[in-house]
Amino acid sequence: MATVTLDQVNKVYENGFHAIHDLDLDIQDKEFLVLVGPSGCGKSTALRMIAGLETISSGEMRIGDKVVNDVEPKDRDIAMVFQNYALYPHMSVYDNIGFALKLAKVPKEEIDKRVRQASKILELDANLDRKPGQLSGGQRQRVAMGRAIVRQPAAFLMDEPLSNLDAKLRVQMRAEIAQLQRDLAVTTVYVTHDQIEAMTMGDRVAVLKAGYLQQVDSPQRLYDHPDNVFVAAFIGSPSMNLYEATFETTDSGGVVQLGSQTLELGPEAFEDRSALRGYAGRKVIVGIRPEDFEDASLVDRDTTGKILSSDVTLIEALGSELMVHFNVDARTVDSGDPDAVEEQENAANAVGRFNPRSRVKMRDNAEIAVATENMHFFDSESHLAIWD
Ligand code: ATP
Repeated sequence: MATVTLDQVNKVYENGFHAIHDLDLDIQDKEFLVLVGPSGCGKSTALRMIAGLETISSGEMRIGDKVVNDVEPKDRDIAMVFQNYALYPHMSVYDNIGFALKLAKVPKEEIDKRVRQASKILELDANLDRKPGQLSGGQRQRVAMGRAIVRQPAAFLMDEPLSNLDAKLRVQMRAEIAQLQRDLAVTTVYVTHDQIEAMTMGDRVAVLKAGYLQQVDSPQRLYDHPDNVFVAAFIGSPSMNLYEATFETTDSGGVVQLGSQTLELGPEAFEDRSALRGYAGRKVIVGIRPEDFEDASLVDRDTTGKILSSDVTLIEALGSELMVHFNVDARTVDSGDPDAVEEQENAANAVGRFNPRSRVKMRDNAEIAVATENMHFFDSESHLAIWD
C-alpha cells in the first residue's frame, strides 16, 4: 500500500515538446485518482512517468517514501493495465494471469493460490483453460485486471482500460473496477478522456489541459465549484452553457446583461463569491448548467427577472427529460476544449434540461426560467472562476 507523489514534475520529449508542466499530485494511500483531459493533454505521459516507462525531465516522483525517478519499472512495485490488455493469445487465461509471477520465480503453489483467488474475484473461474480469443471483450478486460491483481502491487496504473468495450459493457465494467479497487484497497491512478468515467469512478479527479493541471478535487466539488472555464465546460454533459456578459450590482443583488436580455440576481449570488462585487460594471463570463434552465410555465417559484425569451431550435425527448436547444443572443465562450468546439459548430448556443411535462415545441418562442442562484461567474480575461 502506498502513496504516489509528483512534485513539480516536467516532461520535455526529445524533440523539445514540453508535454507536462510542473505537475504536483499527492495521491493518497488506497485512493482512486483519475487523470482526465482531452486528447493530447498529457495524461498517458504522466501515467507512463509514474510507471517508469518514460523518464522524468525534472522534478521528483515518489512511491511511498521512496524517490523513484531513476528506479526501473519492474522495481517500482506497480502493475499497469493497458488499453489493449496486451494478453498473450497462445496462453490460457490461467497462464496469462500467472505469467508475471512465473517470471518472478514465485513458487508454483503460491502462483496457483493467487491465480485462483483473482479469478474468483473476477468471476473467471470457469474460463481458466480458455485462450483470450475465446473470451468476450469484458472477460478479456478482466483477465488483464487479474494479471495486475495477482502481483499484489503497491499501486495500479490503468490507461484507458475500457476504451475497447462497447458502451453498455463500459458502464458495467467501470462499476466493477471501482468496486474491485475499493475491495482491494490499492492506490490506483486511472487515465481516461471520458469525463463520465472520471466522475463515476474517482475518489478525486485531476483535470489536465495541454500539460497543465487545472484542478484536482472530488467529482462533486469539480462540478459545483470549478476553478476555471475549462473545468466548468469539461465536467458535465451536456456542457455548461458559457456566455460573455456584463455584470452590475443593484440594491437587491445584481443583474447580468446577456445579449439583449437581463437576468436578476439575488443577494445569494455573493455567497461564496464576494469577489463578484468587484466586477460591477465589467465584462464577465457567465456559466449556466443545462439543469438550471427550465420551461418557465413549470416553475413554481417567483421567476420575475429570471426569464429568457428564446427560439427553440431542437428538442430531444429522452423520456426522463427533454434536451431543449435554443439560442441566446450573447457571444459564447471557447473553453479551450477542442472536442467541445466541434460539437457546438452546427448547434444552437444553449441547451436546457427540461422536465418532460414541458409543452414547448420546436420553433416556439419559449419563456425559459433561469436558476440564477446557481449561475457561475468567471473573469473574462483569465477565465478563472470568481469566488471569495
Ligand atoms: P490521448 O488521450 O490522445 O492518448 P494523452 O492525454 O494521453 O492523449 P499523451 O499521449 O500523454 O496525451 O501526449 C501528450 C503530448 O505529448 C501530445 O501532444 C503528444 O503528441 C506528445 N507526445 C507524446 N509522446 C511523444 C514523444 N515520444 N515525442 C514527442 N511528443 C510526444
